[in-house]
Amino acid sequence: MPGRIYLDHNSTTPLHPQVAEAMLRYSAEHTGNPASAHRAGARARTTLESARQTVAELLGALPQEVVFTSGATEANNLAILGGNAQHLYVSEIEHPSVLEPARHLASRGVVLHSLRVDASGMIDHASLPQEQDAHTSILIQLANHETGVVQDIPALRQLVPEAKFHCDATQAIGKIPVHFHELGVNTLAGSAHKFNGPPGIGFLLVNRCTRIKPQLFGGHQQGSVRPGTEPVMLAVGLAEALKLAASEMAARRVHCERLRDVFLQTLHAVAGDNVNFHVNAAPEQSLPHTLNLSFPGCPRDLLFIRLDLAGIDCSTGSACTSGSLLPSPVLRAMGMADELLHSAMRFSLSHVLSEVEVVEAARRISLEVNRLRFSPLRRGS
Ligand code: PMP
Repeated sequence: MPGRIYLDHNSTTPLHPQVAEAMLRYSAEHTGNPASAHRAGARARTTLESARQTVAELLGALPQEVVFTSGATEANNLAILGGNAQHLYVSEIEHPSVLEPARHLASRGVVLHSLRVDASGMIDHASLPQEQDAHTSILIQLANHETGVVQDIPALRQLVPEAKFHCDATQAIGKIPVHFHELGVNTLAGSAHKFNGPPGIGFLLVNRCTRIKPQLFGGHQQGSVRPGTEPVMLAVGLAEALKLAASEMAARRVHCERLRDVFLQTLHAVAGDNVNFHVNAAPEQSLPHTLNLSFPGCPRDLLFIRLDLAGIDCSTGSACTSGSLLPSPVLRAMGMADELLHSAMRFSLSHVLSEVEVVEAARRISLEVNRLRFSPLRRGS
């Protein structure tokens, strides 16, 4: 019988043992700052550049276009604050690490425009600017952190050819093929801990024709765009995790699709007619790893506590907004009815889960949903 079951892989993922091994091997054998002129420095530099080359190759970029950062929050901030936008068009469903730097720029006089989404979570093309220039920036993610909905970035790009385009691909990398040059965007953010790499490292891909102003000062590393000593061991881990994700991508996807189907079937089977639930994104438009479900009649904060006590780790939204009592801005932007909005939970799956765990999780969730629906406390509320 499984103990606790972790269904929050969109928040972070377990480190792959092979990634841990590669990092340990590097750190046991090498010391050296990649900026140092001695041999130890040169070895660190060679390893760092080899990791950069791997990231570039696997994501369809050039090595000189890869800027290592501490994660995707920093990468998004660097792309947005380091740009030269006078008009920013931001999708309503972006992660806070995109929305908040955009709002910060608005407080400094940049004009902020909202890009609407339709009920399925796809960008409404009518809200894209008709006219653009190099001082217009578009901020649209590749896959959503709460619903898994995947945007058609190349099609959107074609509609705004003159604008700068930043894409937060954090939830998509490692799950679907991502090719920087084919997407045609200027900058793209990613983070290792979302694909079984180490936390504390991510990257911004910066197209060679795009200039980004540094937001940190005090070093000449990475062309001065992102100064500071590069964490070589973490870069080794990032590259290894990306290699594994690329080579296993198809198999992981098939496994996650199977897990998603089994999870939904079990919820239906155990819940019977008593427990109806609503799937908050069309499967054909979403990553199979992300299931956003509403359980009408179950306030999400109460359900979250019950599921935690029942040994299920899941989420009521993005980890970066959890703690907020407000309903999900992503689901609100999709125009969801209040009843669905206030009872929405995110379950995010991964290839590391087994079918047994997912079936057991669905069984526990159904039980808790039923208990909450028929709880006298709830009826009195
Ligand atoms: N963008 C998206 C879509 C995310 O899901 C996250 C992580 N929750 C981030 C950015 C921030 O990533 P990091 O944790 O690496 O700062």
